[in-house]
This record gives sequence, C-alpha cells and structure tokens, in this order.
Amino acid sequence: MKLNHNKSILLILMLFSFSMPIHKAFAQTFRTFNKPVVFDELRKKLSVEYLRERHGIIQDSATIVPKMIVLHWTAIPTLEQSFDVMNPALLPGARSGIAGASSLNVAAQFLVDRDGVIFRQLPETAFARHTIGLNYCAIGVENVGGSNAPLTDQQLEANVALIRYLKKKYAIEYVIGHHEYKSFIGHPLWKEKDPNYLTNKTDPGDVFMSKVRARIKDLDIKGAIKKK
Ligand SMILES: [Zn+2]
Repeated sequence: MKLNHNKSILLILMLFSFSMPIHKAFAQTFRTFNKPVVFDELRKKLSVEYLRERHGIIQDSATIVPKMIVLHWTAIPTLEQSFDVMNPALLPGARSGIAGASSLNVAAQFLVDRDGVIFRQLPETAFARHTIGLNYCAIGVENVGGSNAPLTDQQLEANVALIRYLKKKYAIEYVIGHHEYKSFIGHPLWKEKDPNYLTNKTDPGDVFMSKVRARIKDLDIKGAIKKK
C-alpha cells in the first residue's frame, strides 16, 4: 500500500517535470565550475600595476568593484585552447600590439563553452584584463566561438543566467558587448590614460547582444552609451 502511494507520487513528479519548458529546467540547474587560471603573486602584481598605470587607480589589491559585465567571444575554436591562452600570468610576446601597454596577460572571470557550461577562471572580484578603459569595474565573460562559429543558443541561455546571478550579487549598471566598449570614451566610467591605446573589436556582435538584451529587459540594466 505504502509502496503504491510512493510510486504514484513519483509518477506525478515525473509528468510535472517533463511538461516544464526546457528553459525553465536550465534556469533551475544554473551552476558554474571552477577552472582557475594562474592567479599568483606575479599576476596580482601586474594587475595592481595595470590598475595604476592604465586606469590611474592606486590600490594594493588586484580587485575590482563590479559595475559592468562585458560579453566576448574568444575567436578560438575550443574551450581548452581558450583557457590555455588566458592561463599564464604573462602576455606572450606575439600580442605585441597590446604588450606595450602592459605585460599582464588577458583573461576573463568567466569562460562559457559551446554547450553552455560556465567555468569560473578567476574570483568574480579579481582584476582581469579584457576590456581597455573599463577592466577596473567590469566582469568579463568569454564565450568559445567567433565569426566562423556563431555563439550557440546554450551560450545565450548561460550568459543570461550568469548576468542574472551577478546582478543579484553586485551593483551591475551596464551589460555591453566588447564591440561596444568605445562608446564609453568620455564617460565617467572610462579610465585609460593613453587616448591612443584602443583596439578594434567586433565580438560578440549586435545579433548576440540584442538576443541577450531581449531576455534581460526586466533587470533594467543599461547598455552602450548612445552618441549625441
Ligand atoms: Zn573581446
């Protein structure tokens, strides 16, 4: 008698879960995996130097107060290759275009694989070099993909879930795509001492950003600065 009762409850639960929309099931299983890049004394030292030399911010710790989330794509085809590029503390010599500004390697706090699995590469409030002028206040989210491998629906779901998670924890005012970062030149948040230190970015593009923005309308987060 008791067994039958339990079985019927199980059946009801199963029917209920299968009838739920898939995106709700995803939202309920939001999680991140730690896959830390090197965050040793050298990376911390170079981060503190970057904060001082580029952003004009003098502090002892390689930390940020997040006000913004910047979404990227890696332009590298796989998760492991993307991780390997960001893992060392020192920028490899090949990227000489940005090496003059600092020898700190690039990184982002998060890396999202093609299947939407989210990896945390650095503590959320650790400094990471991913967006000129804004690193000191921005959490970076790299997505494995590029112009030849458009970001997937699973990555869209993961980015939306991650933004919602971060918005609950920090005073996030802006979500932008990396290609929109120059709209902040002249804005109070822009801090870069060399007006000529700029790179052209196309990631992750307007198509992905408009999909993200359609999904986070309720959060009342601002985007790129509109030109007057
Ligand atoms: Zn980028």
